[in-house]
Amino acid sequence: MRYVSTRGQAPVLSFEEAMLTGLARDGGLYLPEAIPHMAPAEIAALAGLSYEEAAFRVMRPYIGDAFTDAEFEAIIARAYAGFTHAARAPLVQLGPNHHLLELFHGPTLAFKDFAMQLIGQLFEAALKRNGKRVCIVGATSGDTGSAAIEAFRGLEAVDVFILYPQGRVSEVQRRQMSTPAEDNVHALAVEGHFDDCQARVKDMFNDFEFRDAVGLAGVNSINWARVLAQVVYYFTSAVSLGAPHREVSFTVPTGNFGDIFAGYIAKRMGLPIARLVVATNQNDILHRCLSNAEYRPDGVIPSISPSMDIQVSSNFERALFEAYGRDGSAVAQLMEELKAGGFTVSQGALQTLQENFDSGRCDENQTRAAIRRTWDTTGELLCPHSAIGVHVAEEHMVPVVPMITLATAHPAKFPAAVEEASGQHPPLPSHMADLYERSERITEVENDLGAIETLIKERTAH
Ligand SMILES: *Cc1c(COP(=O)(O)O)cnc(C)c1O
Repeated sequence: MRYVSTRGQAPVLSFEEAMLTGLARDGGLYLPEAIPHMAPAEIAALAGLSYEEAAFRVMRPYIGDAFTDAEFEAIIARAYAGFTHAARAPLVQLGPNHHLLELFHGPTLAFKDFAMQLIGQLFEAALKRNGKRVCIVGATSGDTGSAAIEAFRGLEAVDVFILYPQGRVSEVQRRQMSTPAEDNVHALAVEGHFDDCQARVKDMFNDFEFRDAVGLAGVNSINWARVLAQVVYYFTSAVSLGAPHREVSFTVPTGNFGDIFAGYIAKRMGLPIARLVVATNQNDILHRCLSNAEYRPDGVIPSISPSMDIQVSSNFERALFEAYGRDGSAVAQLMEELKAGGFTVSQGALQTLQENFDSGRCDENQTRAAIRRTWDTTGELLCPHSAIGVHVAEEHMVPVVPMITLATAHPAKFPAAVEEASGQHPPLPSHMADLYERSERITEVENDLGAIETLIKERTAH
């Protein structure tokens, strides 16, 4: 399996190379040259398997010869051993035709753990084999950073630097990043928004001298291996509701478009998905673009769903690449226009996007109302992100086709917003009940490329 860049100018890579690299050298994102297909009988055969067995079957075609079957099985087993639910991604029912896919039973209580725990084990196995060391740099709106630090803490061949917007992540998120004591992990508080953090990370990847000097690797949702890990739960949940004999739809709380893009990949692989619904908060650039073709970031308004406070949605580039018939130069052109303020998706590409994706927006009051309503009618306490999914899903339900809404984080990650909306205080699970007592380690840094690079060079000079 070979991987190509969405901008068409970077070298074609193997799975292992694409994983260790993250962002392509032409600024693009890697995608498989061809998307493997699973026959209905192969999909049906996933029924009743453990999550790990299903994960192996869904992801195996993408790995090529990077790992033997036995190695890959062991990697998957280690990745999901720290989850606290035997099903890993259990489904619960919210209403007659509406199901919630709980993706928050991993070590940092958000769906990011599904990909990050796997990628930690993949990196460890690959680097040990070739005796290399890498420096992982990532930007986070809260959950990616905590998941990355948790997945890589204490690993030998990896340093991790996570840039987060100071004062704009929840206290639980911040503590999950700042309390691990291992000295290979570093939480950097940047003055600015998530989009600033993400822009600085992209700048570092485009500074080839720095990139090569420190052995930069990316684990943001642009990393293909992360998208791949997320494809699995679309299969396991759909199969448990009757796929491939029955169609299902998904609604996905969306920011960087990584999670929903994994759903699109599942569909392309042959999973019978009727609709993929993008749910946004008040930072609704994706909803607007999917409605009227205009993609113009106009500033982030902080919300109670901070992990979705995003206006530059990096994985959307992958969807554009597909919508433009895999024309890398067309995508490169759009990204140039984005630097100058925004772009308009062509009529043909918009039509292709709309064939695959629906979208909806949920404002702050609607988010709180969805938390309260769901608590009152089902006893399920939703985090604000998941509540946005539930609100938008309810607008897109059709008879017969079951709707699966992705619950992307545990309510205890956002206790203030959840309590205000529902009157219920969501307790932390027992394995992290002492989080508020652990001591913190944070480095403040200017929103300046030079300052950030200097700091990383100093800390990685072993
Ligand atoms: C990251 C995140 C999202 C958005 O997912 P994307 O893949 O960036 O679209 C939604 N909810 C929560 C809780 C998250 O952590």
